[in-house]
Parts: sequence; C-alpha cells; structure tokens
Amino acid sequence: MAISKELLDILACPKCKGPLRLTPAGDGLDCDACRLRYEIRDDIPILLIEEAKPLDAAK
Ligand SMILES: [Zn+2]
Repeated sequence: MAISKELLDILACPKCKGPLRLTPAGDGLDCDACRLRYEIRDDIPILLIEEAKPLDAAK
C-alpha cells in the first residue's frame, strides 16, 4: 500500500478542503463532495484541481 493511513488523514481536497477517500485500486483519491478523482502518480497524490478528473465520467 503506497499511501499510508496517516498521510491520508492529513490530505484534504484542494477544492473543498474535505476528506479524501483512497480508491479500491489505490491509484487515486476521491472527493465525494466535489465528485472529483485526484490521481496518484509514483506514490505522490496529485492534489491539483485542474488535474482532477470528474468521478461521473469514470463510470
Ligand atoms: Zn472536494
């Protein structure tokens, strides 16, 4: 597991400052409030609003 629980507790959505949820595959962080997915690349979460992908489009 690349992202630790401790790190996940610190991370927040850059848009709404809400909590993020690790995806089941561990390859991204979802914000349920914004319906956005922030990718994790090389174990580094890309917490940039302009880099985020809409969750609804990933269906
Ligand atoms: Zn958010």
